[in-house]
Amino acid sequence: MATTQQQLHGSVVKFLSGAPKKMLINGEWVASASGKTFETVNPATGEVIVKVYEADKEDIDRAVKAARAAFEGPWRKFSHYQRQQLLLKLADLIEKNAEEFAQLETLDNGKPIRESMNVDVPATIEHFRYYAGWATKIHGETLPVSAGNFLTYTLREPVGVVGQIIPWNFPLLMAAWKIAAALACGNCVVLKPAEQTPLTALRLAELIMEAGIPAGVVNVCPGFGPTAGAALSGHMDVDKVAFTGEYTTGREIIKASAGNLKRVSLELGGKSPNVIFKDGDLETALKGCIGSVFFNQGQVCCAGTRLFVEKSIYEDFVGKLSDKVKSIKLGHGLNPETQMGPLVSDDQLKRVTSYLEIGKKEGAKAMCGGDRAKESDLQKGYFVQPTVFADVNNKMRVAQEEIFGPVVSAIPFKDVDDAVFQGNETTYGLAAGVWTSDVKKAHRVARSLKAGTVWVNCYNVFDPCTPFGGYKQSGYGREGGIHALELYTQVKSVWINLD
Ligand code: NAP
Ligand code: MG
Repeated sequence: MATTQQQLHGSVVKFLSGAPKKMLINGEWVASASGKTFETVNPATGEVIVKVYEADKEDIDRAVKAARAAFEGPWRKFSHYQRQQLLLKLADLIEKNAEEFAQLETLDNGKPIRESMNVDVPATIEHFRYYAGWATKIHGETLPVSAGNFLTYTLREPVGVVGQIIPWNFPLLMAAWKIAAALACGNCVVLKPAEQTPLTALRLAELIMEAGIPAGVVNVCPGFGPTAGAALSGHMDVDKVAFTGEYTTGREIIKASAGNLKRVSLELGGKSPNVIFKDGDLETALKGCIGSVFFNQGQVCCAGTRLFVEKSIYEDFVGKLSDKVKSIKLGHGLNPETQMGPLVSDDQLKRVTSYLEIGKKEGAKAMCGGDRAKESDLQKGYFVQPTVFADVNNKMRVAQEEIFGPVVSAIPFKDVDDAVFQGNETTYGLAAGVWTSDVKKAHRVARSLKAGTVWVNCYNVFDPCTPFGGYKQSGYGREGGIHALELYTQVKSVWINLD
C-alpha cells in the first residue's frame, strides 16, 4: 500500500482516510443500522483499501422511505429545466475531479489507469450531459380519438422510486447509466453498488450532494446481493428495479419483483460472436479482436469471446492474434504502462482459472496464456495471463459459458450461413462483431445475428445515444438513448369531455 499511496492524488488519500465509509441516505452520511462493515480490496495487491458500512434490509428500507418522501415532496417541484441544470452541474463536478475518479476506480477495480482515465470517466461525464439534454424534452402527445368530442392527450410521468443494482466491471459508468436516465425522467433512486467496488459510487454520491440534488433523490447503499440487493428488489414500495449482472441473479430479481409486480429491466451477460471473413481488413480486425476481448481484463458483458474465423485464414489469423496477445503488458493498474490489470477479485480469479482448466480438458489448445500470471511482482494480486484458445468447437463449455475474463475461444467456419448458424448457437444475445469489406455480406450478417448490438468493422464502440441491451437470455429493456426513457417513465391517457 505504501507505494500505491505515494502515487495517489491527495484528495483520494483524503477520501480513503474517512473510514469506515458511510452510506448516503436522505442526504446524510450514515453508518449501517447493524454497525456491520465489509472490506474493499485492491485486486492488484490483495490489500484492504478501506472498510465500508454494509447496508442490509433495515438500511435499504430507510433509503426507500427517503426516496419516496423526496419523490412525493421536493423533487416533484423541480422543473425539467432545473433537473437538467443539476445533471449538468454534476457532470462538471465529475470532470473537475476526473483524475481522482480514475485513480479510485483503478484502485478498487484493478483496471489500467489509462482505461479509467480515457474511457470510464469521460464516458460517465458524457452520459450525464446526454441525459441532462433529455430532461427538457420528455413530453406526451395529443391523440386523434374518434370516440366523441374529447380532447385526449398523454402525459409521460416518472415511474417513482427506482432500485438500481450494478456490477463491479464498470462501477462508475454503470452508476451513471442508471442514475442519469432515472433523474432526467424525474425519478428517485436507491443504488446498490457491487460489494467489490463501492468506492466511486460513494464519491459520486458526495458530488450529487455538492451539485445541489435534494436529499433523498439519490441514496447509495453498498452491501451484498443476497441481503441488500434482495431487500431492494423485493421491497414493496420500490416501483422499478434496473439490474445489471449475471443472468442467474437476473432470475432472482424477477422472482423478488413479483410481490408488488414492480417493473424490471435486465442487462445480463453474453458470449458474443465476433466473425472474421477472409475479405475483411485483417490488420484492423486483429486489433479489433484484441480490444474486443482483452479490454478491462475481459470483464466486459459484450466481449467478443467466441471468435469465428473463416476456415482458409483460421490458422494464420489465430497465430498472428496470439503473437500480439503475448505482448500485452500485465501490471498494476496505477502504472501508466500497464495494458492489462488484475481480475477484480480472488473469486473471479478462481472462476477464470477453472475455465482455463476446463478448456484444456475439453481439448482446446492454449496458443498463449492458459494460466495464472507467473511474474513475481504479480503473485499477490489476481492476475491471469491473456489467453487464446484454438481448436475450439462451439459445443465446448469455453464456447458456451461466460468466463468473464481475458480468454478468447477461436472457432473456424465455412461460409456465411455457417457463421450465422454458429454465431446464433448460444443462449445469449448481447452483441456481435462482423469484419468484411463486402457491404452486402455485412448487412446480411448484421440482420441475421440475434444480438442487441452488432458492430461491423469495429467493436466495443459506445455512445450515450445508442440503445444497449440483450436478445434472448442477455436480458430485456434497453439502456442508452431515447430507449432508456421508456424504462423510467410511464404513460397516462387523459380524456377531457368537451361536450
Ligand atoms: P452478479 O453477481 O449478478 O452481481 C451484480 C449485482 O447484483 C451486484 O451488485 C450483486 O451484489 C447483486 N446481487 C447478487 N445477488 C443478488 C440477489 N440475490 N438479489 C439482488 N442483487 C443481487 O454479477 P457480477 O458478477 O457482479 O457481474 C458480472 C456479470 O454482469 C456478467 O454476467 C456480465 O456479463 C454482466 N454485465 C452485464 C452488462 C450489460 O450491460 N449487459 C454490463 C456489465 C456486466 P454483490 O456483488 O455486491 O454481492
Ligand atoms: Mg475492490
